[in-house]
Amino acid sequence: MGGGGLRRLWPALFLLYGFPFQGAERQPSRLVAPLSLPATVKIRVLTLFQPRSVWLHARKQPAPLQLAGQAITLRPGAAYRLEQAADGLILWQGAQRLAAGKSLTVAADDVDVEVIGRKTRLRRHFCGALAIAARQGRLQLVVTQSLEAVVASVVNAELPSEAPLEAGKALAVAARSYMAGHLGRHAGDGADFCDSTHCQLFLGEQWMRQGATGEASGKLSRLGQAAAEQTAGEALRATDGALYPTYFAACCGGRTTTPEEAFGNGTAPHTGGGVGCEWCKGSRFYAWTRQVERRALAKALLPDAAATDDLRIEVAGRSPDGCVTSVSVISGARRMVLPNRQFRHLAGQRLGWNLAPSSRYVIESQGETLILRGRGFGHHVGLCLAGAMAQARAGRDYRAILAHYFPKAVCAPEKSLKPAPRSGASWGALAERERATPPPPSQGRRP
Ligand SMILES: [Zn+2]
Ligand SMILES: [Zn+2]
Repeated sequence: MGGGGLRRLWPALFLLYGFPFQGAERQPSRLVAPLSLPATVKIRVLTLFQPRSVWLHARKQPAPLQLAGQAITLRPGAAYRLEQAADGLILWQGAQRLAAGKSLTVAADDVDVEVIGRKTRLRRHFCGALAIAARQGRLQLVVTQSLEAVVASVVNAELPSEAPLEAGKALAVAARSYMAGHLGRHAGDGADFCDSTHCQLFLGEQWMRQGATGEASGKLSRLGQAAAEQTAGEALRATDGALYPTYFAACCGGRTTTPEEAFGNGTAPHTGGGVGCEWCKGSRFYAWTRQVERRALAKALLPDAAATDDLRIEVAGRSPDGCVTSVSVISGARRMVLPNRQFRHLAGQRLGWNLAPSSRYVIESQGETLILRGRGFGHHVGLCLAGAMAQARAGRDYRAILAHYFPKAVCAPEKSLKPAPRSGASWGALAERERATPPPPSQGRRP
């Protein structure tokens, strides 16, 4: 949900989700704060690409896989194509059909996965286990990895590789807490999270992309690995040990906000109020200005709007924290109020997604031009990544950074906390309910 990775991927993301945080805002948070960190996490990968077929390449050694109970070994140097078909999956080697079935499983370490589009070629390598199934005419790829491996990959994807280590460590703790508190966001896809900024960026261990705009490649950086290792098992917790289901975003623009304010779902016990942050002042998203022709914006929002002179577009509602909740379009006698999410989606779709990078903005009118002045990038909730990097550069360690954004939380490994006596419908009571439904023994997390 932010950072350098976001800069790289957001044009592609918009194609699928519209505005990047639209999906996140739709998703309700878990009601109950878990006590334990999950041992493994399931990530749906290549979500943005929704491929109909993928190529599988054995890396250095023969790679055994299972396709509908049939054992097949992929040989290094040979190319295998897995395609979605009416009745499931078909595995091809050249023109030879090797096997067919509903689902395929393989050790992710053994293979590279490649997607070849008309203009793009994308290759990824993951660790853990990879399962592929066909769903609604597309392939659905889900990797199951240890939580720590996912944390390292998320830090690597969300922050630039030159980011200071202490910022990486702060994100590692926040990402671990975020995942523990939001498992099953993509339960309908058989996964906990997707690999885009809708949940959090995840590129795996190694990646390569060839497209119309050139070539790029990368692998898990020292930053991601060191950040995960040096904070292993640490998460944000209430004093009674319950995990904070926290968030992180690219740039708060001066003040963070609560999930209730940003997403409006009100289902997650929030992690304290918003906090001031001047640390992200150096970010180009700290304060932004965008210009748009009034009529062009009205046309984007109301395609059949009459070209009247009294066409007005104004902020109609604002949350107590200053985030825009609704925008009104007034054309002649007609007045339409759009939720802010819809406003950003319609305007972004037709005029470019960069028009309103966050929900904290004002609209000014100057003749035929509307000027949007705003602060921040993303949803403003939780850890501000631009601020965390600036704090780390100023010599603050990850605990000090986290204490700034989460003043009511403690950053601690599970073992070091002793549950305190609980009362009322607090985090403690919620955690108690969680404890009453223990996870199945085969998994380190709730069903
Ligand atoms: Zn997602
Ligand atoms: Zn900030």
